Amino acid sequence: MIVQKSYQENKPTLYLVPTPIGNFKDMTFRSIEALKESDYIFCEDTRITKVLLSHFDISTPLRNYQLYNEKEQAEQILKLLRSGKNISLVSDAGLPCISDPGFYISRCAIQEGFSVISLPGANAALTALVASGLPNEKFTFYGFLASKRTQRLQQLQALKDKSETLIFYEAPHRIHQTLQDMKEILGNRQITLARELTKKYEEYIRSDLDTILEDERELKGEIVIILEGTKISTHLKELQTLSIENHFQYYIDLGLEEKEAMKKVAQDREISKSDVYKVVKKISI
Ligand code: SAM
Repeated sequence: MIVQKSYQENKPTLYLVPTPIGNFKDMTFRSIEALKESDYIFCEDTRITKVLLSHFDISTPLRNYQLYNEKEQAEQILKLLRSGKNISLVSDAGLPCISDPGFYISRCAIQEGFSVISLPGANAALTALVASGLPNEKFTFYGFLASKRTQRLQQLQALKDKSETLIFYEAPHRIHQTLQDMKEILGNRQITLARELTKKYEEYIRSDLDTILEDERELKGEIVIILEGTKISTHLKELQTLSIENHFQYYIDLGLEEKEAMKKVAQDREISKSDVYKVVKKISI
């Protein structure tokens, strides 16, 4: 068990600091303070973070931390923490670790007994979810689907039966293909595309997959996809695994009239009443 009392102990600390996702006004006071007071800031792209630092008049030295050099740079960060320094980690935008680097060093720092403190702030997924108009009590954040199509189709297949709202990140050049794949595997569903959040051209497109796929508009910029979960209940799925006869018998046992039971079976299985009738009455074509 590792217990961290974030603000009652005076240990060297790794701060996971959120940065704006398109609007500098979303920078928090605490983020600025952490960046100013840290001994070093590790970031994905020094050119991007320099712009942020100069905007907020922060002069803390910058170091590079990317997925490709994560292990080497994590060792650098650990050395600095061991020598008593405080470190901030930022990504290009939003929360570190969320579809961005940060997990590996956080885990290493926790294992070595340093404090790892996350500051709240801008995040594209939750910002989009909250205003999507789709149920947001329960949700699955998936991040980016695989860029290889076969793998992406498999990933979607694994999400098919989830009833909670699904959240994806996607690059603009792949968005159309991804929406087509979603339609193919998950069927038509309600969807909200949240584009260019917090920026001047922020846009929410609230629709369904069929309509969006027919629409001609170009989907440029940064995009979050919020997709409705399946509406088919687990109970219905169980009924669909029964034979038509047993499915029919289930409703008869519940006390339904034959005609009503056949109608319900047809509805549940999305087949015609006459198909149910033929099976139940053993009439072949
Ligand atoms: N760590 C970030 C966060 O907390 O949201 C996410 C970084 S991930 C590498 C970048 C993806 O996040 C983009 O491809 C897009 O799907 C989404 N994203 C980031 N900023 C956005 C914005 N302003 N509007 C819409 N989506 C955004």
